[in-house]
Amino acid sequence: MTTKPKVGFYWCASCGGCEETVVDLDEKVLDVVAAVDIVFWPCAMDFKYTDVEAMADGEMAACFINGAIRTEEQEHVAKLLRKKSAAVIAFGSCACMGGIPALANLTSREAIMRRSYISSPTVGSEGGSTVPQKSTDVGSVNLQLPELYDSVLKLDDVIDVDYYLPGCPPTPELLATAVGALLSGELPPAKSVLLPDKALCASCDRNSSKPDNLTVAGLKRVYQVKADPEKCFLAQGILCMGPATRDGCGYPCVKGNMPCTGCFGPMSGGDQGARMTAALGGIIDVGEAALDEALAGIPDPAGSFYRYSMSASLLGRVRKGEPS
Ligand code: SF4
Ligand code: SF4
Repeated sequence: MTTKPKVGFYWCASCGGCEETVVDLDEKVLDVVAAVDIVFWPCAMDFKYTDVEAMADGEMAACFINGAIRTEEQEHVAKLLRKKSAAVIAFGSCACMGGIPALANLTSREAIMRRSYISSPTVGSEGGSTVPQKSTDVGSVNLQLPELYDSVLKLDDVIDVDYYLPGCPPTPELLATAVGALLSGELPPAKSVLLPDKALCASCDRNSSKPDNLTVAGLKRVYQVKADPEKCFLAQGILCMGPATRDGCGYPCVKGNMPCTGCFGPMSGGDQGARMTAALGGIIDVGEAALDEALAGIPDPAGSFYRYSMSASLLGRVRKGEPS
């Protein structure tokens, strides 16, 4: 009988990129498999919920759960995994902060269903008859679908989370480090984010190109200019979320001459959109009359500032009943 610690991986509302990170461990995955017993990973192997139900409480040493919570099935399985795991790690930005799926909080469930199943140009004229229902009778058989929630929730809205590892996705190196820390017991205090608590700009090698008194006359979208590959994006008048985003990724986007879009979320105790608004307030140097034009490079401020952190934001969601 194995004595290796048992580990699980599960996904909720997400794209699958965090599962790719596990695969992208490449040959390091052999070290992980040598050190732990993977007892639940339905994305890669044929496990059933009944396999988890049969485990003793706390039997898994750790479970990495990625994805936001959007359906009652996801909430049910997250609660089951919480019961069966000594430690739960919110793995990836969707589990930590809602991620890209939480941009749906800027509209309503009804509007999404209407667009997807009735008004989309690719839906045929019979559209309305194909809207999914929670319960449908087909002859003598009753088919059930899990309820789709009105809001996209982060994992710790429904269960206690022990550690957070954001990123869209977290890098394989960060996952390997987190697994190593779990196995060695060398972990920071419970509820910690397993990443440095400083802004991405602090590590970025373009930071030194920022003038001491950085001001710009407005912001442009990245496709509208040819970005200098050496100079800070903000100093070029291109929105870069570096000042409001947690360090730890190794800034691959900036190295590829694309500005940071903020996928590692905010530093502790802060709201990513509020921090970015404050950062821009300090550098956009135009009079009130020219402000709209200066901000034309951010056509969707909520979607830009909270692209990965809507469920954890001060904004949260549009008010219920608002037209969308
Ligand atoms: S704003 Fe962007 S490009 Fe400039 S230093 Fe920060 S992360 Fe680097
Ligand atoms: S540079 Fe920004 S968007 Fe790119 S991986 Fe890092 S945190 Fe994410």
